[in-house]
Amino acid sequence: MTQYPIDGFKHSLWFDTAVEAPRTQSLSEELKADVLVVGAGITGLNAAIELAENGTNVVVLEAGVVGGGASGRNGGQVNLGLNLSPDELVKHYGQKAAEPLIQAICRTPATVFDRIRAKGIDCDAEQNGWIQGAVTEKRMAAQVSLAEEFSRHGLTIDVLDKADIDKRTGSTRYTGGLFVEQAGSIQPLSYTRELARVAIEAGVKIFTHSAVQTLKKSSANGGWVVSTGIGGVRCDKVLICTNGYTDKTVSGLAKKVVPARSIQVATEPLSKELQSKILPHRTTLVDKRRMILYGRYDRNGRLTMGDHGPMRDAFCLDDFKDVKQRAIEVFPELESVRWDYHWGGRLAITKDSLPFLFAAAPDLLVGMGYNGRGVGMGTMLGLAMASKLLGRDSTSAFMPVTTPNEYIFHAFHELGAEVVIRWEQFMDRLETRA
Ligand SMILES: Cc1cc2nc3c(=O)[nH]c(=O)nc-3n(C[C@H](O)[C@H](O)[C@H](O)COP(=O)(O)OP(=O)(O)OC[C@H]3O[C@@H](n4cnc5c(N)ncnc54)[C@H](O)[C@@H]3O)c2cc1C
Repeated sequence: MTQYPIDGFKHSLWFDTAVEAPRTQSLSEELKADVLVVGAGITGLNAAIELAENGTNVVVLEAGVVGGGASGRNGGQVNLGLNLSPDELVKHYGQKAAEPLIQAICRTPATVFDRIRAKGIDCDAEQNGWIQGAVTEKRMAAQVSLAEEFSRHGLTIDVLDKADIDKRTGSTRYTGGLFVEQAGSIQPLSYTRELARVAIEAGVKIFTHSAVQTLKKSSANGGWVVSTGIGGVRCDKVLICTNGYTDKTVSGLAKKVVPARSIQVATEPLSKELQSKILPHRTTLVDKRRMILYGRYDRNGRLTMGDHGPMRDAFCLDDFKDVKQRAIEVFPELESVRWDYHWGGRLAITKDSLPFLFAAAPDLLVGMGYNGRGVGMGTMLGLAMASKLLGRDSTSAFMPVTTPNEYIFHAFHELGAEVVIRWEQFMDRLETRA
């Protein structure tokens, strides 16, 4: 078993089982491009593909490796695009602006799986549905009203009673829950590496180990001058797709997101007998509490389970005790299985729990803040950012362009987040006991 310290990327199950990474190198020259994309994750690569396929000359700069951010480390669940309910979105944006976003949330899983098929992306895609389990009557009532709200916008979500959810999960833990048929799972690092392959084939130039250090307006022609210290790019437009890994390159941007960590564990391949008991239809699972627990199988029958992590990037084995304990509470059969993989990464939390499309300047677009739903929504927002630059309107413009709020006490976000996590854990325990 992996000992201390744990590398949140290289010790992951996905790193061991992904398709090969496309060959890339670091930028050591001066280039010109129409559009520069910063960040080679799900958001940036989807935007890059769409732009290149429509005749745009695109360069992607990535500080680490393709998929080395959250995109190659996540749970691979392709769920409805956002955590918030339709009514909450209407309250936030108003009816007119909220409706296209709600429709985009509903079509998120279908968009991702259609895209995977259309581009021939090899990423263990499985569209077996997603179960969201409720542990108390109160949480179940909230799930029922969520399903009712979505049905008013044309999406059917099945409400599961106790007997139904027991059968579908193989756990007696839940009072009831929801089932979303269109959802499913992917191997996230394979998905991201394959997006990079498709991008390169479409003519995108991707440079890895090439962190953008400075981003300035050119006084000569009004374009952007971007430098990695060793190489540089002159371009007309820039897309920032750095989510939980956002640094200080764009002034003030890092204060608009809090980089929370999520961690995961994966079992040894489970026996056929256990696989027929635990999530027998290979659906994905979200245990809906204040601090969610989530899980799914990989292609070899390993069960992965995830939870929130500590507010730092360096993990150690002790950090994973809670997630294993929580997994065993849901599936007691896991008590005797071996846990082979431990890893984690950063996701971006925003003040209003919503992602944002932000025009930091007229030709500098930022898309991020998925609050843990970026596999689907990152794909959607990447495509939307590209559409915006291509001057398209209509249905692709589902996300209103807004100026996200800053965290005023951002300098203390680590401490603040630890306090919130402990409080939420305490409230979850209280609620479950009651
Ligand atoms: C453990 C975990 C589990 C998760 N599970 C799920 C899930 O099951 N389903 C779901 O929908 N979402 C999940 N998420 C969230 C999801 O992974 C993210 O929302 C999504 O991957 C964000 O993609 P992205 O491309 O915007 O950002 P990222 O994939 O994080 O990529 C950002 C990239 O920007 C690069 N970068 C940063 N600064 C610079 C710079 N100055 N120059 C160049 N490059 C730079 C980084 O190196 C990084 O590669 C999970 C996240 C984590 C961490």
